[in-house]
Amino acid sequence: MANDQVKFQAIIAHCKEYGFIFPSSEIYDGLSAVYDYGQNGSELKKNIRDYWWKTMTQLQDNIVGIDAAIFMHPTTWKASGHVDNFSDPMIDNKDSQKRYRVDHLIEGFADELEAAGKKEEATTLLATMDSLLAQNDFEGIKNLIEEKKIRCMISGTANWSDVRQFNLMFSTQLGSVSDEASEIYLRPETAQGIFVNFLNVQKTGRLKIPFGIAQTGKAFRNEIVARQFIFRMREFEQMEMQFFIRPGTQKEWYQYWKDVRMKWHLSLGIPAEKYRFHDHVKLAHYADAACDIEYEFPIGFKEVEGIHSRTDFDLKNHQEYSRKKLTYFDTELNQHYIPYVIETSIGLDRTVLMILSEAYQEEDLSTADKKDSRVVLKFPPKLAPIKLAILPLVKKDGLPDLAKKILADCRGHFRCFYEEKDTIGKRYRRMDAIGTPFSVTIDYQSLEDQTVTIRHRDSMQQERIPVSKIREIVEKEIL
Ligand code: ATP
Repeated sequence: MANDQVKFQAIIAHCKEYGFIFPSSEIYDGLSAVYDYGQNGSELKKNIRDYWWKTMTQLQDNIVGIDAAIFMHPTTWKASGHVDNFSDPMIDNKDSQKRYRVDHLIEGFADELEAAGKKEEATTLLATMDSLLAQNDFEGIKNLIEEKKIRCMISGTANWSDVRQFNLMFSTQLGSVSDEASEIYLRPETAQGIFVNFLNVQKTGRLKIPFGIAQTGKAFRNEIVARQFIFRMREFEQMEMQFFIRPGTQKEWYQYWKDVRMKWHLSLGIPAEKYRFHDHVKLAHYADAACDIEYEFPIGFKEVEGIHSRTDFDLKNHQEYSRKKLTYFDTELNQHYIPYVIETSIGLDRTVLMILSEAYQEEDLSTADKKDSRVVLKFPPKLAPIKLAILPLVKKDGLPDLAKKILADCRGHFRCFYEEKDTIGKRYRRMDAIGTPFSVTIDYQSLEDQTVTIRHRDSMQQERIPVSKIREIVEKEIL
């Protein structure tokens, strides 16, 4: 499935109808590329975050978690390169929504010309580009791209937006008196909160290299093209881990984390063919190797996670700008050095979208004499917002009493949902639509023999089980 806009739109509509995701401040017609998570979406998101956190900290020997502030000293973003490097002239391909730094786009085209033996044309092109950029002549740059018929490598089209000089960081003022207030930024990535705390954590945790620091939290980017639901937001959440290593060992650790992270993705029950690695050819200024893990969304293969070998770029720069020593003493080597870093950086919202895309299914349940269908979200049970629906068949004759006893027994262990209204068939469908893996129905027989009917979401199979077994059955599936 290359590009299934119909499915993508159906998922967006479903998310709104069933309390997963709403446009932010919708009563005021929303705010572009900003979304709110509803009662089911926030549970799903939290479960994904918790699963990542558990596998990346609790189940690791040498990785600890932190929670750094969103606001950071403004020099942080000088040192990290964001003040200078996050503000390039950009152009977007309207078909693929891929954004390019215009110099990268033109340089790439010049490389192609050279490879085709047109060295002179390539040199002239680069000289023209340099002169236009020097004059900030963005219209001229766009004309140049169009004149040369430079195409987007993803969509293959030359359908370009205007060129804009754009720093993706949001800024605001710290302090109440405007002329004394200083400009600070909303962090565009969580990673820098880890770098600036590197020594605090290493020393107080008495950590020895190799070790990692993990963090989840909000990041903000003033994205120009932001039309793909929660795939590209202006306020989003990242789950990042910086792994500090000896210089010279980055190749092995880069490969190690590529493998570990891919295994994590596969542990979500998503088939391997829905993933691929995309190696970066043109590397960011801080990296000596980088790749993306891409998932096949309904809108095509797109990045969910980045794995970057960041060398000592960040720590070295923070040491230089802060004039504080950020070296580590390696007792085995008897040597001080600035550690190298492998980063794994995954977007939580993109992971939510990935899980939703994978789970969403429209099933035709028609039989010879009856048309029927359902929309079901086949979430891995551990990620489902609600694990168990407790449904008394009728709201009288003591059935709700037994149902509430079951609720009292289970709700401290996992999230339950209790409902008395409507036919049981309608209630099952609603649970399918929000991805609840188990429903139990309490009927008259339950009062006699303390058994209930448990219904499995995916197979729709029903079986009779003792009330005393409910917790065990659900817990086995959600751990
Ligand atoms: P893209 O090329 O799609 O803009 P990126 O390469 O700039 O992404 P990174 O800086 O590597 O992204 O950030 C790590 C992860 O954070 C990405 O893999 C993605 O999952 C997530 N992410 C980045 N920008 C956004 C955004 N605007 N909205 C939602 N998630 C984002």
